[in-house]
Amino acid sequence: MTIKKFLLTFNPEIAGEPITYRMVKDFDLMINILKAEIDEHGGRLMLALEGSGLQIQKAVRYLEESGVNVQELKEYIRKDDTRCTNCGMCISICPSSAYQMDRKTWKVLFLNEKCIACGMCIDACPPGAIRLRTQD
Ligand code: SF4
Ligand code: SF4
Repeated sequence: MTIKKFLLTFNPEIAGEPITYRMVKDFDLMINILKAEIDEHGGRLMLALEGSGLQIQKAVRYLEESGVNVQELKEYIRKDDTRCTNCGMCISICPSSAYQMDRKTWKVLFLNEKCIACGMCIDACPPGAIRLRTQD
């Protein structure tokens, strides 16, 4: 089984269609919605798909053919360990426990697989050690 995270962007014309429902049903995937936003410009859906790699690949193709912009979130956040002071602020703010204190070294670790790409930690880090990957 594979788990992959994606950001799906829908334009207003297709935002009301049951595209994600069909994707789950037709490709036998488990879906975990991490974040959803909809407004007059369309919709943005951040989700994790769990299933076989091939089925996920087929589902992504189906989404793209349906007019959905699909961006895989392989790595949303980058933590610069040379700037990090291990203050722990990110641990308290992260809703998905993607930061953890290593009790042996007292260093803050970033666990990418837990990140739901909410962006809350970026401004919370006093020395600016956390950046969006796209800001690199
Ligand atoms: S908030 Fe920034 S400086 Fe503090 S532990 Fe997290 S990454 Fe390091
Ligand atoms: S972007 Fe959100 S979920 Fe990801 S590490 Fe930062 S606070 Fe946690």
